[in-house]
Amino acid sequence: MCTSYPDEVTSTADGQSVIEPGLVVVHRVGIGHSYAMCSCGWSGSRRLLKAAACQDAWGHAVENRCVVAYPMVVAY
Ligand SMILES: [Zn+2]
Repeated sequence: MCTSYPDEVTSTADGQSVIEPGLVVVHRVGIGHSYAMCSCGWSGSRRLLKAAACQDAWGHAVENRCVVAYPMVVAY
């Protein structure tokens, strides 16, 4: 008798990928210098606007199934 379904057991409640996702954060280094970075190894380019870096982060998260951190922006 086999009652275990590994795929369902390891899935998260919302049905997302079972692969460990990366965590995306936006680093605010200073005025006019923000960039997004992910624990999966990806990093966005330098942005003048924090909002632009946040867009990079969201875009990466959607395309690569990574997770946006909360809080998203980390000030140095
Ligand atoms: Zn990532």
